[in-house]
Amino acid sequence: MIRKYLFSCLLIFGLLFGMLGSVVWTEESLFTRSVAGSGFVQKLFVFVEQNEEAIIAEWSRLTEIPAPSGYEEKRAQYMKSQFESLGLDKTYIDQAGNVIGIWKGTDGGKKIVLSAHMDTVFQGVNEIHVKREGNVLKAPGIGDDTASLINLLWSLRAFKEAGFKPKNTYYFLATVEEETGFDGMRAFMDSVEQDFTYILALDGDLGKVSFGALGFGGGLVTFRGPGAHTMQSRGVPNPNLAVARAIDRICQLDLPVLPIEKWTILNVGMIMGGKVRNAVSQESSFTIDLRSGDQEEIVKVQKKIREICEKISLETGVKWEIQLDDRSKAFQIPGARDSALVQTVVDILEYLEVKDIEVGPLGSTEANVGIEKGILSVNLGRTYGRYKHSLREEADIDGLFLAMKQIMLLVCCLE
Ligand SMILES: [Zn+2]
Repeated sequence: MIRKYLFSCLLIFGLLFGMLGSVVWTEESLFTRSVAGSGFVQKLFVFVEQNEEAIIAEWSRLTEIPAPSGYEEKRAQYMKSQFESLGLDKTYIDQAGNVIGIWKGTDGGKKIVLSAHMDTVFQGVNEIHVKREGNVLKAPGIGDDTASLINLLWSLRAFKEAGFKPKNTYYFLATVEEETGFDGMRAFMDSVEQDFTYILALDGDLGKVSFGALGFGGGLVTFRGPGAHTMQSRGVPNPNLAVARAIDRICQLDLPVLPIEKWTILNVGMIMGGKVRNAVSQESSFTIDLRSGDQEEIVKVQKKIREICEKISLETGVKWEIQLDDRSKAFQIPGARDSALVQTVVDILEYLEVKDIEVGPLGSTEANVGIEKGILSVNLGRTYGRYKHSLREEADIDGLFLAMKQIMLLVCCLE
């Protein structure tokens, strides 16, 4: 009897505590159907729908301005001239080459960055021609991330056209050198006061939203030995053998799959070593691509890799060296998934009936730079597309308009 009583007490206590817990830790979404269905939002939507052909034409023109990482000047000039013609409060190009347009809000509002990157991965591709096939545009860079630049420009135009007077202050950003490791965004953040409320990186496929920063911790492992002709090779330390053993053992490391914040993966993509078939290699190496949502896991795996190399060096007599990349660290902001920002974004995507919504902590966009600095940041997709980072890249036209609505709705909900 007493035990039963105790059990129900615990149950009630647990339920109450659980409810309390969710009240304390979960912020409320800022999305409401009354905002989404308001006359103002309809005005924004009608404006972009009426300008559909002009939007597609400008999207093509902008894509045809080549902008490989490090060579974004022409696109930057174009973006700057557009920001200027929209009459923002301040427009400038910073030291790194980023274009910044500031739209000041009334005092007391949030400070929000909306960024899209100008650079593409197509070094040396100087002639770009966009081809349209029904709902699809085809050209290198059409999606990644030119579609987001267009989303940025036309959302801004829609707000201006509708006579919007923001409470929040917006930093519209067209960045350089995203593809080489978020260098443009880092430079921007270092050049301004970092008191932003949110950073919204416009990048990635529509419906995929990341609120955490995926970290990279791979590198290059090299083994060295004295070398010898095959005829004199008995007992000579063999770097190729060391590479084989090391890869075998490293690939057997147990890497976490769950919880998703600790999800970790590695891959050995390249093996180098030896010059001729009749001699022992003097130097052999292999690459490791290591990624995780959790920096501690990255450090743990790196430590295990070092231990494996050290052990193999003792077994085989080769010398070893490791170069590990720690430029892009993993970061998570506690409670980010339950924050008002992330919940609002999810509600908007559901309201717009976006298919295949995926919300996770393993992001790899300019939002990472904000997350690293403890600023709640997410990416927002640009459209649906295929063959990203290849010359046959494709992007869907209807997805672009859906993505644009997502951005405009979010701005309205955050006001
Ligand atoms: Zn991108």
